[in-house]
Amino acid sequence: MTLLTFRFAPSPNGELHLGHAYSALLNQEMAARAGGRLLLRIEDIDIARCTPEFEAGIFRDLKWLGLGWEELVRRQSEHFSEYKAVLDRLIAEELVYPAFMSRGEIRAFIAETGKRGREWPLDPDGVPLYPPLDRALPMKERKRRIAENMPFAWRLDVDAAIARAPADLSSWVEFTDETMTATRTVEARPQAWGDVIVARRDIPTSYHLAVVVDDALQGVSHVVRGQDLYSATGVQRLLQQLLGLSPPRYFHHRLILGPDGRKLSKSFKDTGLAALRQAGVSPQEVRQLVGL
Ligand code: GLU
Repeated sequence: MTLLTFRFAPSPNGELHLGHAYSALLNQEMAARAGGRLLLRIEDIDIARCTPEFEAGIFRDLKWLGLGWEELVRRQSEHFSEYKAVLDRLIAEELVYPAFMSRGEIRAFIAETGKRGREWPLDPDGVPLYPPLDRALPMKERKRRIAENMPFAWRLDVDAAIARAPADLSSWVEFTDETMTATRTVEARPQAWGDVIVARRDIPTSYHLAVVVDDALQGVSHVVRGQDLYSATGVQRLLQQLLGLSPPRYFHHRLILGPDGRKLSKSFKDTGLAALRQAGVSPQEVRQLVGL
């Protein structure tokens, strides 16, 4: 029997806080209960915002918490050529297109449609969907703009992608609780995100692309992560389908909220693990704080 494989996958673009502690410890607990493996993956594709200092902080905080993971740690920034190969496949299959509109141009386009009384759709994060203009650009024009060095991002043509991926496979299996006994099937709704970015001009991947490639490559069988990524799973499920990758099972856990009742962010200094440690809080107390 193959071992169940879990992973904790932080991004070193800020300090870990109580929400990360909960996610990491829950992964550890579920892996231990299943007699499985726990991997640590550093998701540092955003080379402008991720720093070696934040990464060192992640290792320090996780060791202090008592997290035990398997070596080797996969660092995404060391695998750009692998993501590039996958991106090239999507380009060759005409499932992605270069999108040139700047934020300002998107805003102007949407304001214009608004004047004609049309509500512009928003994605689950409240961001307006990307307008359909560039999707229809002739190949010659795309090539001209790229040759002229115009900034762009590779976006998934979500309608073409859904048409390519058989509908009955656009669902995912989610655990309904932490004991992993009950499951339900959830319909993936990737179209809610419109034409998502799958790669940048200078970075041949995005969060969604790197995560599905790595989860498959590392044999991750169980993705345990926060509820804030619940609807992102729809996009990832579609990418898995397009790339012929078998999907893991998912458990989207509750979020640890701040005193204001909102999701913790990396700017909440007082719930940062390093700050708590310096204030004399013990790893055991962290477990209690997050309800473990
Ligand atoms: N790297 C992501 C984050 O820090 C988590 C990705 C995932 O668990 O799928 O929020």
